[in-house]
Amino acid sequence: MWVDQPGYLSSPFLVDRSADASEQVTARFAAGHHEVLASIGGAWRRVADGRVDANRQWFVAGSPLQVAIGFSESDVVAGAVQVSPPLLFHPEELSIDRPSSAVPLSDAQAHIALRRRLIAAQKRRRDTFQFCSICRTYLPPEAYVGSQPCRGCNAQYFGLMID
Ligand SMILES: [Zn+2]
Repeated sequence: MWVDQPGYLSSPFLVDRSADASEQVTARFAAGHHEVLASIGGAWRRVADGRVDANRQWFVAGSPLQVAIGFSESDVVAGAVQVSPPLLFHPEELSIDRPSSAVPLSDAQAHIALRRRLIAAQKRRRDTFQFCSICRTYLPPEAYVGSQPCRGCNAQYFGLMID
């Protein structure tokens, strides 16, 4: 499937896709593991150190990637994932669209406050997805270069290698 092609969904040097880091995420909250999972979801993947913002440890989730959370020692923020596709001489890059205000981790209800911020970020990101006119797959903006169809279909059906 196109979304699993190398280079599309965040290269290994950006995101460790081999391990579910949800326990690392939930352990930072005062509330219990399952309570936090029920609020903020799971399948979190750790972003390689320094790939987004050296001041926070970031985790991302979704397929395609949708949301990000970034921890400092004392608080956490949420944001929407942005991915710049790999283009000639430009490696794929991850960034965070409009990080939320910070939620103190000392707050017993921090997971609830983070949930509200994550839902807003997730909606922003999902609103940028569109179905490809050829393969009819629901894809994020980095799967297109300017216009329809998606990069995978351009390569498969029209012989156009855009990256
Ligand atoms: Zn397509």
